Amino acid sequence: MRSLPYFCRGEVIRGFGRGSKELGIPTANFPDSVVDNLPADISTGIYYGWACVGNGDVCKMVMSIGWNPYYKNTKKSMETHVIHQFKEDFYGENLSVVMVGYIRPERTYDSLEALIAAINNDIEEAKAKLDLPEHSKLKEDNFFTSAASSSSVSPTTSASTSQSIMNGH
Ligand code: ADP
Ligand code: MG
Repeated sequence: MRSLPYFCRGEVIRGFGRGSKELGIPTANFPDSVVDNLPADISTGIYYGWACVGNGDVCKMVMSIGWNPYYKNTKKSMETHVIHQFKEDFYGENLSVVMVGYIRPERTYDSLEALIAAINNDIEEAKAKLDLPEHSKLKEDNFFTSAASSSSVSPTTSASTSQSIMNGH
């Protein structure tokens, strides 16, 4: 995928109550403004990368890009599981991510246990891949240190402008 690594940022919105948190794997959802800007070559499936909530530490993450059942599978969703134990939910906060690599396509599972096992495999793969020197350096990218200033950018800034700023560094 030519568009990787792909940088994006957006407010964490409420998902569709599919109970990810109950599975022990909460996923922070991006709004349509972020999802709609995804380049065409970023296909659905599971990705690994780096994520930062607000001005917090940069953590490893896994992200699922899938078809959103709420919109009868006509719209995509982007859901990030940050590999970090947070004390509180962070709805409304700015989430900054860089998608670094692709793990696998989406698939359906016969049981909840099989789904959870697959996600835990993804998390282990993400952790290992992100320790590789070529991937760990993205953790230090200026994109994350600029998260503080850009969170004060006026919300009227057009999505396309902020998108080009994000990927134009
Ligand atoms: P929703 O359907 O609203 O997305 P989830 O059950 O997927 O609900 O939980 C997601 C929310 O959990 C996030 O929006 C965030 O506020 C919170 N959260 C807490 N810890 C994490 C984490 N490690 N990764 C992602 N989200 C987390
Ligand atoms: Mg979620």
